[in-house]
Amino acid sequence: MNVPFIDLKTQFSLIKDQVQTNMDRVLDHGAYVMGPEIRELEKRLADFCGQKHALACSSGTDALVLALLALDLKPGDGVLTTPFTFFATAEAIAFIGAVPIFVDIDPRTFNIDPAKLTQTLAALKKREKNGPALPRSGGKSQLGHPVPKDPVPRAVISVDLFGLPCDYDQLEEIVRSENLKLIVDAAQSFGAEYKGRSTCAIGDLACTSFFPAKPLGCYGDGGMCFTSHTATHQLMESLRVHGQGRDRYENVRLGLNARMDTLQAAVLLAKMEVFPRELELRCKAAENYNRLFEGSDLAVPRIFPDRKSAWAQYSLLARDRDHRQAIFKELEKNNIPWAIYYPLPLHRQKAFTYLGYETGDFPVSEDFSERIFSLPMHPYLESHVQEKIVRTVLSA
Ligand SMILES: *Cc1c(COP(=O)(O)O)cnc(C)c1O
Repeated sequence: MNVPFIDLKTQFSLIKDQVQTNMDRVLDHGAYVMGPEIRELEKRLADFCGQKHALACSSGTDALVLALLALDLKPGDGVLTTPFTFFATAEAIAFIGAVPIFVDIDPRTFNIDPAKLTQTLAALKKREKNGPALPRSGGKSQLGHPVPKDPVPRAVISVDLFGLPCDYDQLEEIVRSENLKLIVDAAQSFGAEYKGRSTCAIGDLACTSFFPAKPLGCYGDGGMCFTSHTATHQLMESLRVHGQGRDRYENVRLGLNARMDTLQAAVLLAKMEVFPRELELRCKAAENYNRLFEGSDLAVPRIFPDRKSAWAQYSLLARDRDHRQAIFKELEKNNIPWAIYYPLPLHRQKAFTYLGYETGDFPVSEDFSERIFSLPMHPYLESHVQEKIVRTVLSA
């Protein structure tokens, strides 16, 4: 039995005709850059999420950079986020010269812990001994941006890890009372909902990714920024194309080349035909895994009645590092793929040593990085395959 970690082959067999029709149309009209499919996709996904504006761009990482620039984040500003995420979340912050300020995760959600966020914000105002860890001043990023003595917190980037929405009632209350901007890193949660609201309709801005392995993936790189603020959306339209003004050769600000290829939009439009059904199937597969693991000593992902996860990953916790290693050995014997998201929390990545954090600063993230692992997850995962996977895991 060949078990794929993510099954894009089966998906392609279902959407092949539509993908080819859509791609042929692009090849016929020849508008490879900013062709009509881009606007069509933006409208379609804005409607799908119940959000006013959507802006297609070149990747999830560029979506975050565009968002930070559009919200006028400046070098030295503090941006709070989780250390238990893909590198790009904090990389985008540091890339524009702002300072990543890490906040540990809630063990029940794997997402930023609102109580710890409040503690960190309090500590930033009044540096007390024994308070939560903060960036240490004096360091300098590889791009030459120094860590200031007292970075002023300006924004929070929440990450809906593995597709599960954060505790947005609490996060929205905190950002409102502290006058911070909220950027949702929805790279893994496109299609997810918090109390009936799409994660891409939350915050000042939401960013997602269409990297092939994400819940909605294209056949290359792509991303999108969602916002309800018209002026912010217009600013991102300019930033996406070299800070352009009224026409292509008027440049009124520094920007990027961050456009999405028309061909990728054509692929995504075809995938949207099956995406709502795929979300349901992912959810069913996750519930089935949880049921099969019932009674075991593995900590399975929690299902919250007030949220719909996009189930980008099915991640669970082994007892300890050795237990996880034993599970991997069994999985490998049976040709079942696995993954670790994420083996190293961001405060321990070399690129962020300049922030001066130490091992032990974020104990939940550090503990989980040693125990967490992900199993095959996709809409076309069959029940008998899941049974075999679970049997193999439990045999360790
Ligand atoms: C994938 C991902 C990104 C980056 O998206 P790309 O399209 O690969 O640039 C950012 N944040 C998170 C949480 C991600 O999972």
